[in-house]
Amino acid sequence: MINKIDHIGIAVKSLDEAVPYYEKALGLKCEGVETVEDQKVKTAFFNVGGTHLELLEPTAPDSPIAKFLEKNPFGGVHHVAFNTSDVVGALSQAKEAGVRLINETPKIGAHSKKIAFLHPKSTMGVLTELCQDGE
Ligand code: ZN
Repeated sequence: MINKIDHIGIAVKSLDEAVPYYEKALGLKCEGVETVEDQKVKTAFFNVGGTHLELLEPTAPDSPIAKFLEKNPFGGVHHVAFNTSDVVGALSQAKEAGVRLINETPKIGAHSKKIAFLHPKSTMGVLTELCQDGE
């Protein structure tokens, strides 16, 4: 049901600071920047062999990423996202396994993907995203 690791979400204070690091120090190429109003973040994507890095900069003080940066002032790994062809099915599988869900139903994320998060208290500390490619 899970196809691959879709992306790793990394919280950053500033894309203007983080994007040049990934481009210059690691030689990766930024594929694009997108604001996701629903999540109150601005994202930048890098393709690393089919798995992506998703840099996340908060766009509002009450953004989940702003709260993460209060606890982790240098930024850091925020979540791991698994690609599935059936996000609703994957969510109900996790729920049946006793996992606490942050999103009972999928929301729309960057690139129009259907996304839903599992609570880190149920996933041994790893904020886990399930995502399904948009049509
Ligand atoms: Zn993500």
